[in-house]
Amino acid sequence: MRLILLGPPGAGKGVIAKLLSEKLSLPHISTGDILRRAINEETPLGRDAKACVESGGLLSNEIMISLIKERLSATDCERGFILDGFPRTLNQAKALSNMEAASGVAPGIAINLDAPREVLISRLSGRRVCPSCQALYHVENMPPRKEGICDGCGSQIVIREDDQESVVKERLLRYEEEVKSLFEFYKERNLLKEVNSNMEPEKVLKNILKVIDDSYQVQTGDRLNQSGKLYCC
Ligand SMILES: [Zn+2]
Repeated sequence: MRLILLGPPGAGKGVIAKLLSEKLSLPHISTGDILRRAINEETPLGRDAKACVESGGLLSNEIMISLIKERLSATDCERGFILDGFPRTLNQAKALSNMEAASGVAPGIAINLDAPREVLISRLSGRRVCPSCQALYHVENMPPRKEGICDGCGSQIVIREDDQESVVKERLLRYEEEVKSLFEFYKERNLLKEVNSNMEPEKVLKNILKVIDDSYQVQTGDRLNQSGKLYCC
């Protein structure tokens, strides 16, 4: 089962990917993690990526695609995976589709997690981070015990530059522009599934499992379990 999580910043992809990964026992593959690991381990690709990041440039499609290709060929991905943060562009989506075709597996299902723009803005601009231990907080949903102070290490928590409201609005606009062709790509192939992420993560998870059940059966003709479902309880 190959799942591709799409969705704007603030849609909760990371949280949902983690829950899905536990539920389905599939690796959660986040581009941020892969990139950090490649850079730390100084693999040839990691060195290219580092040079790119240090020069202030955006990571090229080729480097990102090669990193993903390398990661997806690892043995823990044989049963499938949950992709978070890739593809971001049409070229990346095509590359992924070519990889799937080359290994003769069914194409991954793209799940678009979405929420109203005001919700995304409030989620993102309410985020706080501890500059010392990197713990994450949210002024409404996950406040520290003492206002403004990290529970873990007592440092003063801050807003990341990226989470300032004006920057958040910019990010959302950029995302919407970027993702149009990606949606078209998956829609044409009947692989795009919409899931509302404006609810508790557990409920979002349940809805995703329902969507997977329906699509995956159609794709593979897999036998159902006794409850008549592949994954849902
Ligand atoms: Zn801290």
